[in-house]
Amino acid sequence: MMRTLLRLLFPPKCVFCGRVTENENFAVCEDCLPHIPLNRRACRNCGTPLDTVYGDWMCTTCRKRKRAFTRAYVPFVYKDIAREAILRFKFGGRRGSAGTLAAYILLKMREMRAPRPDMITFVPLHFTRLGVRGYNQAALLARALGKMLGVPVQSTLRKMRNTPPQSKMSGRNRWAVQHDVFALKRDVDVAGKDVLLVDDVITTGATMHTCARHLKKAGAKTVEIAAAAATSFVHK
Ligand SMILES: [Zn+2]
Ligand SMILES: [Zn+2]
Repeated sequence: MMRTLLRLLFPPKCVFCGRVTENENFAVCEDCLPHIPLNRRACRNCGTPLDTVYGDWMCTTCRKRKRAFTRAYVPFVYKDIAREAILRFKFGGRRGSAGTLAAYILLKMREMRAPRPDMITFVPLHFTRLGVRGYNQAALLARALGKMLGVPVQSTLRKMRNTPPQSKMSGRNRWAVQHDVFALKRDVDVAGKDVLLVDDVITTGATMHTCARHLKKAGAKTVEIAAAAATSFVHK
């Protein structure tokens, strides 16, 4: 009854174009399906879309530097309707998109035969930004994913100060998100666990690397990462 009423008041809308759709768990309309920029050829390690695939499916950055995470599950390239969908999810108040975006991450995990993590966590927002936006989109994705996988979701990290968006930083600074921008929360127990770290978009992997390093330092056995989309290598 309540559910029916809610559906009438807030019918599920396609996360890509906003048109009303039938399925609220997988809210994608037929018109958008063929236009989704799927991340088919991605670096296995960081999720960056690759122009050319070599034998090891690794991007040049991951070949040069050892990352604190070992694998990435990223279903979309951050462009076109995927970019628009994520922007609406992030800034347009479209929290309801979390379920569908997380479902795509889950599909990617299945495709890449991801092991089941012991725990899911997410990249935090600085509290001032959280205050303005009202929610952390990475946390919403993590929670939706945790529900589907039946894996506990825990907030483990804090963002200590606000940093400019990575897209506005120079190439060199972008790699080095300083370690103390993030901190591990108190009473967090990740020791010996296989952790899945979630963000909305991966730009350079620098944020993920720094957060993963904190988790590894706290004793996490492995850290794998997941995001809805990753920016293309040509933009880096
Ligand atoms: Zn659509
Ligand atoms: Zn890579």
